[in-house]
Amino acid sequence: KIKQIAIYGKGGIGKSTTTSNISAALSNAGYKVMQFGCDPKSDSTDTLRGGKYIPTVLDTLREKNAVKAHEVIHQGFNGIYCVEAGGPAPGVGCAGRGIITAVQLFKQQRVFEELDLDYVIYDVLGDVVCGGFAVPIREGIAEHVFTVSSADFMAVYAANNLFKGIKKYSNAGGALLGGVIANSINAPYAKEIIDDFVEKTNTKVVEYIPRSVTVTQSELQGKTTIEAAPDSEQAKIYTSLAEKIINHTESRVPSPLEVEELREWASKWADHLLAFETGEVGLNAVG
Ligand code: ATP
Ligand code: MG
Repeated sequence: KIKQIAIYGKGGIGKSTTTSNISAALSNAGYKVMQFGCDPKSDSTDTLRGGKYIPTVLDTLREKNAVKAHEVIHQGFNGIYCVEAGGPAPGVGCAGRGIITAVQLFKQQRVFEELDLDYVIYDVLGDVVCGGFAVPIREGIAEHVFTVSSADFMAVYAANNLFKGIKKYSNAGGALLGGVIANSINAPYAKEIIDDFVEKTNTKVVEYIPRSVTVTQSELQGKTTIEAAPDSEQAKIYTSLAEKIINHTESRVPSPLEVEELREWASKWADHLLAFETGEVGLNAVG
């Protein structure tokens, strides 16, 4: 049975990098994978295709009325099917429209069944403020949602907003939360902060991913780390993350914090970090 997974997170947090490495690791494990970029920038699948451009679903639809799905599906590393939903012309319309349109097109043409896919991974920019971006959750398209977050407040804030969206749609058959993919976790306090946040919101960290120059090098070659540096420590971490996603079955409704609670939580951490920096407390005292 096909497993559909949506990966959300704030802009620039590492969604596309992480998603592409998950797709690459899944395909190395023998699964048939489609990566579905739901970002108006249309660069989700770049490192699966050596940075080569593919026509987006919305652009193709603008050019002609009848689009065949295979015109917008292009194979990359290991034969992974790459799709970019695309975006509206700048300044016009809802940025989420690409997702809605592409999903409809694929449904009509029974694309997932015909390609006999094991996994569809949606790479979604946003935190469900816009209706279009909520589509993979709301319409029950994705079964499980994961979010990429660092320990930075703005990333945690976006994750918390996403949790609100998931909770809201959970009564109506929406997708539930699989967990948090903690990215750029190098400093010890970063791990403590994210651990504390997931505990407070009734979720868990699926994987801790360090910030690594191997990722930078791979990206500069137009490749995922799984492809460019398969024996690296970083590739092992992405492979381990993919295995956790393969074995993941139970997602749940998160408990987002109210804005006030989140603020309080943040200022508590601000105090702790200050005390830590001035040497008043060790990190173990934090939390
Ligand atoms: P956008 O919202 O713009 O689509 P994104 O969330 O998809 O961004 P990416 O494009 O994956 O983010 O990552 C942003 C930059 O950070 C990229 O240059 C990427 O190589 C780098 N990056 C992400 N994760 C890591 C990591 N673990 N180690 C090193 N660099 C990373
Ligand atoms: Mg991206």
